[in-house]
Amino acid sequence: MSRARVLLLNAALGPLDYRVPHGMTVEPGSIVVAPLGPRQLLGVAWEAERMPSDAEVGDNRLRPLLAVADVPPLRPALRRLVEWTADYYLAPPAAVLRMCLASTSALEGARTVTEYRATGEVPGRLTPQREQALERIGDRQGLIRELAGIADVSDAVIRGLVKAGVLEAVTVDIDSPYPVPDPAFGPPDLSDDQRAAADVLAAGVAAHRFEPTLLDGVTGSGKTEVYFEAVAEAIRQGRQTLVLLPEIALTEPFLKRFRDRFGVEPVAWHSGLRSTQRRRAWRAIASGEALVTVGARSALFLPYAALGLIVVDEAHETSFKQEEGVHYHARDVAVMRGKFEECPVILASATPAIETRQQVALGRYAELKLTGRFGLAEMPVIEAIDLIQEPPERGRWLSPRLVKAMGETLERREQSLLFLNRRGYAPLTLCRTCGHRFQCPNCTAWMVEHRLTRRLACHHCGHVEPVPRACPECKGEDTLVACGPGVERIADEVAVLFPDAKTAVVTSDTIWSPAKAAEFVGRMEMGDIDIVVGTQLVTKGYHFPNLTLVGVIDADLGLEGGDLRAAERTFQQIRQVSGRAGRGEKPGRVYIQTHSPGAQVMQALITGDADAFYAAETEARADAGAPPFGRYAAIVVSSEDQACAHETALLVGRAAPKVDGMAVYGPAPAPLAMLRGRHRYRLLVHARRALDVQDVIRAWLGALDWSAKARVTVDVDPYSFL
Ligand code: ADP
Ligand code: ZN
Repeated sequence: MSRARVLLLNAALGPLDYRVPHGMTVEPGSIVVAPLGPRQLLGVAWEAERMPSDAEVGDNRLRPLLAVADVPPLRPALRRLVEWTADYYLAPPAAVLRMCLASTSALEGARTVTEYRATGEVPGRLTPQREQALERIGDRQGLIRELAGIADVSDAVIRGLVKAGVLEAVTVDIDSPYPVPDPAFGPPDLSDDQRAAADVLAAGVAAHRFEPTLLDGVTGSGKTEVYFEAVAEAIRQGRQTLVLLPEIALTEPFLKRFRDRFGVEPVAWHSGLRSTQRRRAWRAIASGEALVTVGARSALFLPYAALGLIVVDEAHETSFKQEEGVHYHARDVAVMRGKFEECPVILASATPAIETRQQVALGRYAELKLTGRFGLAEMPVIEAIDLIQEPPERGRWLSPRLVKAMGETLERREQSLLFLNRRGYAPLTLCRTCGHRFQCPNCTAWMVEHRLTRRLACHHCGHVEPVPRACPECKGEDTLVACGPGVERIADEVAVLFPDAKTAVVTSDTIWSPAKAAEFVGRMEMGDIDIVVGTQLVTKGYHFPNLTLVGVIDADLGLEGGDLRAAERTFQQIRQVSGRAGRGEKPGRVYIQTHSPGAQVMQALITGDADAFYAAETEARADAGAPPFGRYAAIVVSSEDQACAHETALLVGRAAPKVDGMAVYGPAPAPLAMLRGRHRYRLLVHARRALDVQDVIRAWLGALDWSAKARVTVDVDPYSFL
């Protein structure tokens, strides 16, 4: 008689025991199908001693497992990672496990699927709907459901197109092998500095040893080229590499660089994959055949068979912090994965996070530095423009000095980049007559006007409405005015100032897929764009040699609201965007528009003295006991029912334990007091570094019962304080 403890993919359930039927082989890590009531659920067999169950069932009452997936069992290193992540971030293990099994179709064994694509034949007349669908599909290929999604029509419309012979069926072997990258395909001639760093990293890979290393090099110093040498070593060893990028928009340029270096593209993993691509990637990763995977943070939990190296590129990026579901920080979990897998972890950044620098200072992470730009490229000259001394014209946002520089850049046929971290046309719309402001019905947030789509949109919940002609309050017509600038408004100003220049707005609204990013990169490289107006999306990763001018429209923006990382984040963001200027042989210039050019962070940007800035920031953090010297955890209580949210928050607050070295602030209404229709209260736990704050919170919340209408979420090491 053999039994198995199984962690089911259901966050509400604890682990359950099952009988392993005769002839079935189940070991810890096996992916199984188990019965639960009338349903069948996926789960993973686990070491019973590591996953205690309160439901001890006698052998004779156990239900049998139904099946084992025809894929390798999840390895111990990944199982330990699941346990650690669940424990550290106070999440149900099942919620973490779900990220490991991110493609259910991958578990179904080898097979082919039927996809559809355009035949190129279009019979006489199509309905407008079919015509539009066909146009959107273009030369893409996919399942009926996927094509319907792309075309934004029902499945029936796609089936109709198949029947009419406009689309045809193609049988696809979804597990066709990936080409193998060639470490000798296009190695660069490294400078001495680069070579020294690359050798250390490659040796680390060869040694199969856990070792986190900060690769700290100014923008354009060749960090990618350097860590590619470590990737090459892993490939030579037949071991796998995971490269994590902060945004999927950066995937496309990365694929291209990788191809130039290794001859083929790596395996990409991101939310934009079709289900068949996802399955193919998952299986190749699990079998060890996928040697290099590049992806967004979700790639971190995939079941690599033989991980030999993890790279976190732009490691300082706060987008590595997941803000929904399991609130994990991919940079930190990546280091833990490296520890369990016993492989090196490279954190690459030109502006490392204070947390990472502190690990270096404590001797826990090694550090490699690249101090200059590669080749002839020099760091750009950075100047502040004092908006009080040199204000833009009334109703404008670009100061005369910046406009002049843009004109000169255009004349030299070079490119400019204007950075403003605000999507849309204007962050606030109000009625000139009665003062009515447009607020989101679901959130404590203003509706942002988007002129390109002629809508008002909430950036928190996605609610959109058309821009009305009349004010809903006083019924006055044409009385609405836009307050403040977004990128679209800056682009309008540019169009007035330089009517002949070709301008592109780059935000998540315009670059919403890797293909769109590729198109943008292509246009930049061909010189089809003179002036880019963009959000943080353009601050990192890109390399455009002809881009020589960067203008920061409002450097003070990130300092508003003032959370603990505001100054650090402003420094990183502006230094990154400055790093886009003058990456080729032509020198770059950067203008920073600010109301407080004397502020420490602005001075640090202008002088380039990062060390002084970091030293002061670090000292301030140490004084306040803020991370990395102390720790925070946020507890957010929310409910659609305001009274219920309030009562539950008070309940949680009253039960706060008195623990030495820990303070609890709140509950208080969250700055985003309403989000997606839910009322929100926050408590902030502040603790000494050494305190096991998770244990305290687990015991505290575990002893409480609250209404089913309320939700209580815990965010350990929070990055958002809204
Ligand atoms: P970073 O990631 O540090 O910003 P990159 O790796 O993007 O820097 O390098 C900047 C540019 O310089 C890229 O176009 C890169 O291909 C080029 N480059 C860097 N090092 C070398 C080298 N040793 N040989 C040739 N090109 C290099
Ligand atoms: Zn909203």
